[in-house]
Amino acid sequence: MPIHERLENVYAEVLARNPGEVEFHQAVREVLESISPAVGKHPQYADAKIISRICEPERQIIFRVPWEDDNGEIHINRGFRMEFNSALGPYKGGLRFHPSVYLGIVKFLGFEQIFKNALTGLPIGGGKGGSDFDPKGKSDREIMRFCQSFMTELQRHIGEYTDVPAGDIGVGSREIGYLFGQYKRITNRYESGVLTGKGLIYGGAQVRTEATGYGTAYFVNEMLAARGEDFAGKTAVVSGSGNVAIYAIEKTHQLGGRVVACSDSTGYIVDEKGIDLELLKDIKEVRRERLSSYAETVSNARYVEGAQVWDVPCDVAMPSATQNEITGKEAERLIRNGCTVVAEGANMPTTPEAVQLFQDAGVAFGPGKAANAGGVATSALEMQQNASRDSWTFEYSEDRLEEIMRGIHTRCRETAEEYGMPGNYVAGANIAAYTRVADAMLSLGLI
Ligand code: GLU
Repeated sequence: MPIHERLENVYAEVLARNPGEVEFHQAVREVLESISPAVGKHPQYADAKIISRICEPERQIIFRVPWEDDNGEIHINRGFRMEFNSALGPYKGGLRFHPSVYLGIVKFLGFEQIFKNALTGLPIGGGKGGSDFDPKGKSDREIMRFCQSFMTELQRHIGEYTDVPAGDIGVGSREIGYLFGQYKRITNRYESGVLTGKGLIYGGAQVRTEATGYGTAYFVNEMLAARGEDFAGKTAVVSGSGNVAIYAIEKTHQLGGRVVACSDSTGYIVDEKGIDLELLKDIKEVRRERLSSYAETVSNARYVEGAQVWDVPCDVAMPSATQNEITGKEAERLIRNGCTVVAEGANMPTTPEAVQLFQDAGVAFGPGKAANAGGVATSALEMQQNASRDSWTFEYSEDRLEEIMRGIHTRCRETAEEYGMPGNYVAGANIAAYTRVADAMLSLGLI
C-alpha cells in the first residue's frame, strides 16, 4: 500500500532523524501506509501534525547499567526506556532483556505499544524499555544484581501515574520481583501500581501470566467465527516456547484446536497428537532446558534441529517468538500448506512482504497490535486492582480478558469495513488505534 502524499514527508523525517533503526522504520512505515485511507476523512489530524508528533517519542532515556558477575568481574550494559506517548494514560509497556536490544528495537516496540494500548480501550499510553543484557546462562544471583542495578536508575523515571513497565522477552515474574523489590527499597513506597506482571502474593493479578497467549488464541477464535468457522478439528503451529507460546497453546487446546508444533532458538518439535503442555511447561519454565528434551520423553514426537517451524502444515499459525520471523519465504510455505489464519502473538513477527502475501492469498491476518494486546490489557486490569487495593478471581479476570479481545476484534473489523477494506485487520487496527490517540491529542492541545 502506498503512503498518502501528505504523510510522505513524515516518513522521510523519521528516516533522517533515526538513522539505522530499521525495525523502527518498518513499524512506522506499516502504520503510515495503513492510515493513509483515513487521511482524507480527517484533515484536522494532518493540519495539527498529529502523526509527526506521534513518531517522535515524548522522552527517550538511555542509561548505564553496571553489574558484577559471580566471579567478581564487572560488566556494563545499556538500559533504555522509551516514554513514547502519554495522551491516553501513563506510559505502559514491557522491558526486554536480550542482546539484540538497541535503540531501533526499543523504539519499534514503544511505537507499536501506543497503538496496541489504544486498541484495548483502556487508559494506557505507550512505552517500552529494556537492555542489551543477555539473561541466558546467568545465575539467579547475577539476574538479581542486574535487575537491582537497572532499577537503581530506572526508578527516578517511573511511577504509578507516570510510567508503568512490565515484562517482555527475557523479563518474567522472577525479574519483575527483583525490580519491584529494588524500587520499594529505594523509594520507601509500597507502590504496587508501578510495575505489572508481579507475583500473585505481592500485588500481581490473576491471568496476567497467561494473558498474552490466551488473548491471541481468543483473537483467533474471533477471526475463525468471522469466517463462520471454529477451532474444532483445526491444527495450529506456534513458534517459540516462552510465556506467549505456552499459553497460546493452552487456550487453543481449551477451545478445541490442536497445536502440533512449537519451537525454540535451536529447532522445533512436532507432536501430531497435540503438544503435551505439562511437559512443555516443565522443560521451559522449571528445568529451563532445550526443546530437544521433549522428543527424548515423548516417543511419537520428533525434534528437528536448525529448521523453521513453519515447514509444518497447519490451519492456524501463531508466530509468538520474535520480530521478523516470518518472511516472504515462510509465508509462501504456510499458504502452500493450506494455512488460512495467522495471528501474531509476538510483536511484528511478520515482515511487510509476508503480510502482503497472506492478504493477497485470502489468509486472515491478525496483527500483533490487536492479537497480542491481551497481555497489556490484563496489565491495565492489574493497575485497576492495585489502585483499589483489590484482587479479582481467575474466572472474573479471564472473562474480562475474553471480553476485551472480542472488543478489539470488533473494533478492527468494523473500522476496516468503514474504510472500505473489509477483512483487513491491519488497516482496521491501525486506523482505529490512530484515531483514538489522535482525538485525545487534539483534545489536549499542542503537546
Ligand atoms: N510486553 C508486553 C507487550 O508487548 C506486555 C506489556 C505490558 O504488560 O505492559 O505488550
